[in-house]
Amino acid sequence: MALARAIRALGPDVFLPCWSDADDWFSVNAADRFEAVRRCGRCPVRGECLGAAVARGEKYGVWGGVQFPAVPSTGAGR
Ligand code: SF4
Repeated sequence: MALARAIRALGPDVFLPCWSDADDWFSVNAADRFEAVRRCGRCPVRGECLGAAVARGEKYGVWGGVQFPAVPSTGAGR
């Protein structure tokens, strides 16, 4: 698992931005989610995080600095 390996490689003192105020990463408030995207920008495992989220098929939240769904729904099928 590339994400876990990347986090371990950072050492025992690592602290990732989403490990505090994690509610912003799943907030219904767009300003909160934009703040999460901004804070992901400083994350040393951003690429691995995004890859893992895509592989898991995440449907919602901010992962690797990207808001999911990354491609907004067209509303088709509603
Ligand atoms: S890139 Fe992933 S691990 Fe890093 S702060 Fe964002 S959500 Fe957390």
